[in-house]
Amino acid sequence: MLPNEQLQGLSLLKLSFHDKYVQQISANIYAFVQGSHVTNSGFVIFSWGVVVIDSLMTVTLANRLKEAIKSVTDKPVKYVVNTHFHGDHVFGNQCFLPTSIVGHKNTASILERHGQLYVTKFTKRFPKLERELAKVRVVPPFLTFDSRLRLGTPDEGVDLLYFGHGHTSGDVVVFSAEEKVMFVGDLVFNAIFPTSDDAVISSWVKVLERLEELNPRILIPGHGNPCGKKELGYMLQLLREVLLSNELIRGGQIGINEALENILGTGGIESPYGSWLYPERLACLLGQAQKMG
Ligand SMILES: [Zn+2]
Repeated sequence: MLPNEQLQGLSLLKLSFHDKYVQQISANIYAFVQGSHVTNSGFVIFSWGVVVIDSLMTVTLANRLKEAIKSVTDKPVKYVVNTHFHGDHVFGNQCFLPTSIVGHKNTASILERHGQLYVTKFTKRFPKLERELAKVRVVPPFLTFDSRLRLGTPDEGVDLLYFGHGHTSGDVVVFSAEEKVMFVGDLVFNAIFPTSDDAVISSWVKVLERLEELNPRILIPGHGNPCGKKELGYMLQLLREVLLSNELIRGGQIGINEALENILGTGGIESPYGSWLYPERLACLLGQAQKMG
């Protein structure tokens, strides 16, 4: 067992022997962590097959994920769950067909309407990946649900949970109640300021409160290392501070720069976010709170 310094208190294995991206979270749960804040995915192995959580952004990455799964089990992939519609989580879907692609009905409808447009947007954002992204054929989830779906049997499976609009309108949490492990997609970023272009911050707070109630032991975030309840708390606190700052800005009590300084801890107030990556996203979070609540 190789200890991972960044995961104090969590008995995780880093299976560099099999695959450098795979971290074993529990007996049958694995995180696929690319590192450097790049998108995570993961998989859960049951006697009846494998559930994959998020297919990543390119065909190459999806195939790397498939290889990683093969390095751990010879069981077939039965379901690929999309945590939300963002391309870095779903553009690899085509590589898993004819496996069922599962997601919230809002995620399916967004990808059905605008999927190829998002490929174009990503190509503009990541010009170096133009050739890779040209291979993407968007496959929206075709096994969809509204509030809750069990994959597997009553004894052996995971629950897909939907608590409302958070990071996007279709955020799905994959929860193993037995292991108290949850894949949370981009509802939680670990030590990274989240993107929020499609978010409703006030509702996102309520979603995270529901996740806290489930008392998870380990979370696999969409970006950043697997973490615990403490990091879920940081994310919740950040979004609450964004909402509060928004109220103060609206009331004319503080300006936007003061709000940014307060949250980032650069104005003399101590902050847990001082070392978080992409602090420039904080202004977008405040803007999104002003626009959408
Ligand atoms: Zn996202």
